[in-house]
Amino acid sequence: MEKNIALIKGDGIGPEIIAEAIKVLDKIEEKYSHTFNYNRVLMGGEAIDAHSVPLTDEDFLKAKQSDAVLMGAVGGPKWDNLPAEIRPEKALLALRKGLGMFANLRPAYMYSELKDACPLKASVSGDGFDVMIVRELTGGLYFGKRDTFKQDGVLTAYDTLVYNENEIRRIAKVAFSTARKRRKKVTSVDKANVLDSSRLWRKVVHEVALDYPDVELNDMLVDNCAMQLVKNPNQFDVILTENMFGDILSDEASMLTGSIGMLSSASLNETSQGIYESSHGSAPDIAGKNIANPIATILSAAMMLEFSFDMKTEAEAIRSAVDTVLKSGARTKDIFSAKAGEFEVSCSEMGDLIAKNI
Ligand code: NAD
Repeated sequence: MEKNIALIKGDGIGPEIIAEAIKVLDKIEEKYSHTFNYNRVLMGGEAIDAHSVPLTDEDFLKAKQSDAVLMGAVGGPKWDNLPAEIRPEKALLALRKGLGMFANLRPAYMYSELKDACPLKASVSGDGFDVMIVRELTGGLYFGKRDTFKQDGVLTAYDTLVYNENEIRRIAKVAFSTARKRRKKVTSVDKANVLDSSRLWRKVVHEVALDYPDVELNDMLVDNCAMQLVKNPNQFDVILTENMFGDILSDEASMLTGSIGMLSSASLNETSQGIYESSHGSAPDIAGKNIANPIATILSAAMMLEFSFDMKTEAEAIRSAVDTVLKSGARTKDIFSAKAGEFEVSCSEMGDLIAKNI
C-alpha cells in the first residue's frame, strides 16, 4: 500500500521523537512492502518562526489532503507570550476542528514491566490494566455559547453544554466498534441524574447499542467513574464519554500508568483520517538532550497504521516490539528505576531497539 502522511515535527522534543517513529515506520515499509510518503507541515513554534503564524492555509491544506497526520508536539516558552490568536496551541485546535476530528481515543495501558511507576497499590493495579477512553472532541461545554457580563452590578459568567443526537450517535458508534475489536465492553459515562444533555446521551447510546448485541453496555455516573478508576481500573475496557468528562477522566487514567512518555492518542473524523500524537507536550526542559522517551509517538504511529490504514498486523508488530524491548530491560530516563536487569538508553537508542525488533 502507498500512504501519504502529513508530518508535523513541532517544537521541543518533537523532532527527536518523530525521528524515532520514522525509523520504526521505515522498518515497517521494508518488512511489509508499503510506501509511506511524508509531507512536511510546519505547525506551532516552528511555523511562527518561519511564517509568523502557527499554521499557514497552505500547510493546513497539505494536512487535509493527507491520509493521516503524525505529529510530535507544539509549543514552548519561546512563544508563550504571543497574543492568543497566534499561539502554537491555536493551530492544534484549528487543525482538529478544521479536519472534523470528533473522536479522541486515548489508551491508558499499564505495562507489567512498569508497574512500579503506577501510583496505585499492587493489589489494586494487578498485573496491569488496559483501558481505552473514547472522548467526544468537538461538542459539549467547550464549544457551547458562553459569556461574561454584569447582572445588577455583579460579574456573572455562563457556559452551555449542548449535544444533539447525531453528535452522540457518531461517537457512540466509534466506542462500540472499538470495543468490538477489544474485550467487548463499553462503559458510558454521564451525569444523567442531573443533566438533560446526559439523559439524551444515555438514551442515544442505548439505541446505538442495539446494533452491537455482542458488546456489553453499562452506564456509570461520572463521579463514580472517577472513583472506580482508582479503585478497580481492571473493570474497564472502553469508556465512552462527552468532551469535558473525557478531558478529566483521560488525564486521571493516564496518570494511573505513571509514565507520560508511553501514552499515545488518536483523533479521528468520519473518514478514516486521523491525527496521531503522544499525550504529552513538547517537554522543552529536556529538548535537544536525546533523553526523551519516544515510545508514546511510536505507539501513536501504530495507532495510525491500525485506524487510518487498516494495517492491524503491522500495528501489532510495533506494539510487540515495544513489549520485547521493555522486557529486555531497556529504559529511557523517565522510566528508569535502576532495578536489577534494567539499563538506561537514549531516545535514539530506544528507537533503534524497537526498529530492530520489528
Ligand atoms: P509536557 O508534557 O511537555 O512535560 C511535562 C513533564 O513531562 C516534563 O517534565 C517533561 O520533561 C516530561 N515529559 C513529557 N514528555 C516526555 C517524554 N516523551 N519523555 C520524557 N519526559 C517527558 O507538559 P508541559 O511542560 O506542561 O508543556 C510544555 C509545552 O508543551 C507547553 O508549551 C505546552 O503548551 C505544550 N503542550 C503541547 C501539547 C501538544 O502539542 N499536543 C500538549 C500538551 C502541552
